[in-house]
Amino acid sequence: MVEEKSKDKDYLSKKRWRENNREKDRESKSKWLKNNPKKRKEVNKKWAKRNPEKLRKKQKRHTLKYPKAIKARNAARYIKKGECCIFCGSKERLEKHHPNYSKPKFIITLCANCHRKLHNGN
Ligand SMILES: [Zn+2]
Ligand SMILES: [Zn+2]
Repeated sequence: MVEEKSKDKDYLSKKRWRENNREKDRESKSKWLKNNPKKRKEVNKKWAKRNPEKLRKKQKRHTLKYPKAIKARNAARYIKKGECCIFCGSKERLEKHHPNYSKPKFIITLCANCHRKLHNGN
């Protein structure tokens, strides 16, 4: 029973710390998520489950913003990705990239890193 109580106390003090250090808490959380991409996926999934309405809105916004991209992605759904990233050769977290959305069946294979860089233009 004693153990139980000390756990409670610990929890409460952590909670109080978080309340007083909201910025820091958020910072450490986002840092943690950056270092744990797998966990982030889980967290995102959980969020999506809890907020189906928001998720739908988000997706709708995306569709409205990038109609060609979405169409192209759908068209390429059954096209197989390559074995590795054509930029860096990585075999991790491969994604499809459309160099030209008006050619939806023409895709190249990039790792998530190179893909992001490409779209950010650096
Ligand atoms: Zn790459
Ligand atoms: Zn792309």
